[in-house]
Amino acid sequence: MYKKLAELYEECSSTPKRLEKIKIVSKFLKYLSSTDKDVLYLLLGNIYPEYDERRIGISHQLAIKAISKATGTETKKIIHEWKMIGDLGKVAEKFTLHKKQSTLQSHILTTEKVLENLRKLPELEGIGTVNKKLSLITELLTSASPLEALYLIRTLIGDLRIGIQESTIRESLASAFFEKSKETSEKIQKAIDKSNDLVTVFDIAKKGKIKELEKVSLEVGKPIKAMLAQKVTTFKDGFKEVGKPCAVEYKYDGFRLIIHKQGEKVILFTRSLENVTKQFPEVVEYILKYIQGESFILDSEAVGFDRKTKKYTDFQAISQRIRRKYNIEELQKKLPVEVNIFDILYYNGKSQLDEPFEKRTELIKKIIKNHPYKIIHAKQIITGDEKRVKEFYKKALKDNQEGVMMKNLQSPYRPGRRVGNMIKLKPEERDLDLVITGAEYGAGKRHGWLSSFILSCKEGKSYLEVGKVGTGIKEKSEQGISFEELTKKIKPFIIKEKGKKVEVKPKIIVSVTYQEIQKSPNYNSGWALRFPRFTALRPDKPLSEITTLKEIEEDFKHQKRNYQYG
Ligand code: AMP
Repeated sequence: MYKKLAELYEECSSTPKRLEKIKIVSKFLKYLSSTDKDVLYLLLGNIYPEYDERRIGISHQLAIKAISKATGTETKKIIHEWKMIGDLGKVAEKFTLHKKQSTLQSHILTTEKVLENLRKLPELEGIGTVNKKLSLITELLTSASPLEALYLIRTLIGDLRIGIQESTIRESLASAFFEKSKETSEKIQKAIDKSNDLVTVFDIAKKGKIKELEKVSLEVGKPIKAMLAQKVTTFKDGFKEVGKPCAVEYKYDGFRLIIHKQGEKVILFTRSLENVTKQFPEVVEYILKYIQGESFILDSEAVGFDRKTKKYTDFQAISQRIRRKYNIEELQKKLPVEVNIFDILYYNGKSQLDEPFEKRTELIKKIIKNHPYKIIHAKQIITGDEKRVKEFYKKALKDNQEGVMMKNLQSPYRPGRRVGNMIKLKPEERDLDLVITGAEYGAGKRHGWLSSFILSCKEGKSYLEVGKVGTGIKEKSEQGISFEELTKKIKPFIIKEKGKKVEVKPKIIVSVTYQEIQKSPNYNSGWALRFPRFTALRPDKPLSEITTLKEIEEDFKHQKRNYQYG
């Protein structure tokens, strides 16, 4: 029954305390039957496991239309109310209540029906899509109680606001089905990391046998979250984190590619789990030709280079290849990439996650035939000598790369974790990955286009403003990302407009460089970037990985000192 789920959402949102939320969810899980297990996806605001690319993706405009249709309220009135309350879910709740009071009709809404309709949304394509979507949503809203309407709308627009994360569910599973301990939590987490699917883990956990969880294994073809790196600013600190000797690798300025292969089938995923196999046919060919093995999962960075000069290019130069679905051959010729393999997660039926990095490196060397400018094992040295790291670092920068990675030789691979045994070191004027949360229309020749963009970093679940950028964006698209292109990308996510200013749903992630960070009362983060410059769109990065407030504060602390990286 969807009613029960809506009540669970409500109960969770009524307490800010994590432990309380865990208690509530764990009670719910105890009584959740296997036939209803897909409800777990809804609990996180999804309709499929995280690795699945299909998302609900409904705009605020469409949600407003659906509320209007289902409750017989004018859209103008809904928009007005939304501006007052700031929560479209609450608006839906209010108007559903009005309607119910006048009609007294009620239907029972089941979670199966909700999932059924929501799952049809991403499948729709072509003419009449908008209307079909509208009627699927309206059908649900018409049967919904006020509380159900509230959470249906929040689910549709991707803003559940109940404070439940994957880790809440992990802890709830632990307390529902096992004796709670750190070890149990770790085992559940590992099973989640490997399967990337809470429902799979729930099914096993329900049986109450922790040993069974250990049997969950990686599956070729099912995307797995990439391991993330922490940052240091000196080689000394790097060694402190990862120990001596360690592996030092080029930090390539490209984009992450996780490569799956089974027999003749190759699938390529970005770090936000997007399938980009079609966009990189030459990479598929390299994998099949130059890497031995029946099945494997590899972690790598694809980097662009200039065919004539053989010089590496920056990420911006090749970023269009990630999204482009047509003229692929032409783009492939113009913007070739080299794949740099730096890790292996699975090989010939066996997980490599718990093997030490040293061993994984050996395996990569054994199975790959290096073909520079096609596919190679990432440039690496093993050393405990700061001087050598410094030389290697300089070489990487000279080669147009971003810096170096330092890696602990004994460490396992931890999918989706930001770990201290993989460290990145980049020059001081570094990129921040920020999300656009607002913008302003320009004047003169930029009339009609958004020309200045408000950037925000992440603090817990909120986004805090740190500055405005306009520099680095071009007038014409031949020169790079243009105002026109960026405006088009942003428009579907506009939430509010006031004069020339717009508020934007945090969706579009960009890389920027800056000269300095200052304390500032002008932005709600308390910080402002001086002279930010747009460098790239980051369609490959998920929102969860943008720069955090803490990182900005760290950068501020470090900028006063003169770092020599040694
Ligand atoms: P950042 O994006 O600044 O957090 O840095 C981490 C990213 O560096 C990873 O997600 C990879 O895409 C990239 N990278 C480039 N070279 C390497 C390497 N040798 N090992 C690991 N990650 C690398």
